[in-house]
Amino acid sequence: MAEYFEELGWGEYVEGEHPNHLLHMARILVDYGVVSAMETGEWPWLPPPAAKETVKNIPEVVVDNDSTSCPICLKLFQKGEKVKELPCRHGFHAECILTWLAKTNSCPFCRYELPTDNKSYEMFRKAKKRAEQRKEDLETLHNSMYR
Ligand SMILES: [Zn+2]
Ligand SMILES: [Zn+2]
Repeated sequence: MAEYFEELGWGEYVEGEHPNHLLHMARILVDYGVVSAMETGEWPWLPPPAAKETVKNIPEVVVDNDSTSCPICLKLFQKGEKVKELPCRHGFHAECILTWLAKTNSCPFCRYELPTDNKSYEMFRKAKKRAEQRKEDLETLHNSMYR
């Protein structure tokens, strides 16, 4: 992918040049190695922590049975105990899940992914979702360079 841009003679911004939105986006993608991630469909690094705002807003629910346990510490929840519930409906001790989400963004039980504050990772996720549309995007980018 890097070669693709090199072939197009894509150099540094000259002074006073206003960054074209698409070019700017592509530049960030390349900078972060996200383009290569898009090529392989794999994120090359450990997924980043969950977004602070999201973590702050994880709802607390009251456990209504005593047969479920926290997937992190494996201790059974007590009926009536308050637990943090992720959007995938898995519950955890606040302490357990907050420590976990400070390290990575997915549910330790089912790998459901929460948003992150990492812009390049979010870009990668969006790009992955739009894998079908990717070619089209690159064509648009290509065209914008020759206009
Ligand atoms: Zn726990
Ligand atoms: Zn889950």
